Amino acid sequence: MVDTQHFESVLKKRLQDLDDRLHEIESELDEPVPADSEERATEREDDEVLEELGNAGLKEIQMIRVALDRIAKGTYGICVSCEEPISNERLEAVPHAARCRKCA
Ligand SMILES: [Zn+2]
Repeated sequence: MVDTQHFESVLKKRLQDLDDRLHEIESELDEPVPADSEERATEREDDEVLEELGNAGLKEIQMIRVALDRIAKGTYGICVSCEEPISNERLEAVPHAARCRKCA
């Protein structure tokens, strides 16, 4: 039996962390660009890295929301492909996993 309560709190905590981080990224992206052209180039590279982090974060948030939804529906911890239970070990490593190790 999967301890959904435990994973629910893990997922919610992770969601909160990601949300905080994305807000930080957003405010950094909003910072005014320096007038110096060389600095501007560096700034742009930084922005690209930040945007990538932001996109990865958004994807993870999406997967966590789906996982929380599955907890609510009672289907959490069941592989969406083969309908076999996902091992606790895997859920500990990837709490938002929707597929077992074999199907992932
Ligand atoms: Zn599977």
